[in-house]
Amino acid sequence: MSKQPISKMLLDILACPACESRPKVALIDDKLHCPLCARVYSIEDGVPIMLVEKASKDGENQSGEETR
Ligand SMILES: [Zn+2]
Repeated sequence: MSKQPISKMLLDILACPACESRPKVALIDDKLHCPLCARVYSIEDGVPIMLVEKASKDGENQSGEETR
């Protein structure tokens, strides 16, 4: 049994949709973390949810609010 929730190949082509430079996301604790904007994308049933509105910010609790 692999601990990887998604394949390495898939992980390789995933990029953060919120960042213009499209940085690759890192797989940490079954979630995808963007190194630039610190957004966290979840993986549901092996499918990465690469949606900005569904992403949560690292270090925040499920809040979609952004501080201005
Ligand atoms: Zn980003």
